Amino acid sequence: MTDNVVMTRLSTEQADFSEALDALLDRRMIEDPQTSKIVADILHDVRSRGDDAVVDYSRRFDRFTGSLVSELEVSKAQMQASLDSLDASLADALHTAAERIRHYHEHQKQPSWQYEEDDGSVYGQYVVALERVGIYVPGGKANYPSSMLMNAIPAKVAGVDEVIAVVPTHYGDDAGGAGRLIFAAAAIAGVDRLFTIGGAQAIAALAFGTDTIPRVDKIVGPGNVYVTAAKKQVFGEVGIDMIAGPSELTVVCDGKTDPDWIAMDLFSQAEHDEQAQSLLISTDKEFLDQVAASIDRLLPTMERRDIIRSSLQNRGALIFAPDLDAAMRISNQIAPEHLELSVAEPELWLEKVRHAGAIFLGRHTPEALGDYCAGPCHVLPTSGTARFFSPLGVYDFQKRSSIINCSPAGAARLAPVAETLAQNEHLQAHALSAAWRIPGRK
Ligand code: NAD
Repeated sequence: MTDNVVMTRLSTEQADFSEALDALLDRRMIEDPQTSKIVADILHDVRSRGDDAVVDYSRRFDRFTGSLVSELEVSKAQMQASLDSLDASLADALHTAAERIRHYHEHQKQPSWQYEEDDGSVYGQYVVALERVGIYVPGGKANYPSSMLMNAIPAKVAGVDEVIAVVPTHYGDDAGGAGRLIFAAAAIAGVDRLFTIGGAQAIAALAFGTDTIPRVDKIVGPGNVYVTAAKKQVFGEVGIDMIAGPSELTVVCDGKTDPDWIAMDLFSQAEHDEQAQSLLISTDKEFLDQVAASIDRLLPTMERRDIIRSSLQNRGALIFAPDLDAAMRISNQIAPEHLELSVAEPELWLEKVRHAGAIFLGRHTPEALGDYCAGPCHVLPTSGTARFFSPLGVYDFQKRSSIINCSPAGAARLAPVAETLAQNEHLQAHALSAAWRIPGRK
């Protein structure tokens, strides 16, 4: 295929720039009603029929040919055997990535804290790990060993007692291929139990529990529309991390980076799927033309060129901004999952970033390094949700309890305040409970 890629071109100079940008972003998070209904039915079925329903859906959607959920479990010995069978260079790469992810996440641990007031009362926050979590590792169309590491390691660093992983990859089918890598990654990450199930049925099993699959306290990890819809629907019965949509990259460039590098960075996002979004904002119109030329020249050399082409033509754009301040304002409006600041002195521009899932500073920091092995987690908020969500991290696997420890003097000092407020709310027991801690009141 030699046809040029026809990408959307936008410029802040055009009168309808804001509307055009909004249309390109198309952030409607409302689910398709048909998907919601399919997912609601699967959730209901797994809640009522448990293991039998999980087996039925795995047979229907995921090429399972057995009849028991226990056949879908990969034992720790199988995980270890997969790891032992890897080529040394592959095992080394996984170990190196895992070590770097672990090291980074050690910095995220939140300690408990407390302070003491003059009257001897102590107030604080007690931080404790979740007991049991479920991690969803996508596996319908491709396998992501890196996602196994990125989901499970922060949980283990937090101190979660039991990490249950689900991934729709079959040991039998893939024992010699990608499946082996997933199971090896699970061994390295310290996953406690692993089930080769996926989709809404996996989310339901983790949320409600079945005879074989234990109920968890929180479910994290990315997935397709069925997985995302299921996470939304079980939220409240179980914790969830975030709602993820298609992956996205915004590059802000001053025009001084090799245009081939930028084209390849845009490809690296676009090759995920047709709905992935790659955006370039530059202050240099000529540079935008150079990147467009690089895209046309390099695309035919790419194995996933059809997906890249569709993604760039469907949802990609080359955007002109008159200066970097304007470029940063556009980037904040986008609130991208991944933001590359491919500019001179990127640290100076960091303070202009208000919304982004992960920020890659400088010309030598492509997103791909973060995807695999820099250290930070690659499970990130998408579709503009970086306005209020953060990357998956150790804090997602920790919860906080408040600590209040009143001394007799402290209780006597606070009680009149509580009593007054309680009386005004007509809550007599509250008022008396507080007042009786004042010496002489009872
Ligand atoms: P998936 O594991 O999310 O979904 C596969 C499951 O979908 C199957 O197990 C099946 O049960 C269910 N399913 C498929 N068709 C169905 C139907 N018609 N009705 C009901 N259920 C059905 O795998 P995927 O489909 O490959 O999607 C993975 C997604 O995760 C992609 O969008 C990918 O880009 C994304 N991803 C994100 C990250 C990240 O960190 N953000 C990492 C890796 C992958």
